[in-house]
Amino acid sequence: MSSVMKNSATRDALLRRLSQLARRALFGTLSETYRTCGRPGCRCQQGQKHGPHLYVSFRGPSGTTTGYYVPQALAEAMRGGVAVWQELQALLRELAEVNRERLWASRVSRSQRQKTPRRKHGSSPTRPEEHL
Ligand SMILES: [Zn+2]
Repeated sequence: MSSVMKNSATRDALLRRLSQLARRALFGTLSETYRTCGRPGCRCQQGQKHGPHLYVSFRGPSGTTTGYYVPQALAEAMRGGVAVWQELQALLRELAEVNRERLWASRVSRSQRQKTPRRKHGSSPTRPEEHL
């Protein structure tokens, strides 16, 4: 019982932290690119390219990879937001494990209360003989 109570405290803490972090989360894979411009005689045409420019790529709804450049002034905030996304992933995994433990615990306590007979495979729409 005490582990379930500990679990629910952990769960509340995780949910609070998730809610805080979710407000700052940004999504995408960061990379830095160097570019050349069109200005005649610019140093970038001798190999000193402009950059680094922060680029964010991600898989769009259609499944193709897309992305955008981040304005210089927002680069640091962008990096922070993506780091928050990573942290959220780790916390969600933790939460999922706590959820699983709760689910397991509820199953144990239910079977301790009353011994329910095993359900038949009635949920399957096909009859057993059709598998032969
Ligand atoms: Zn240039």
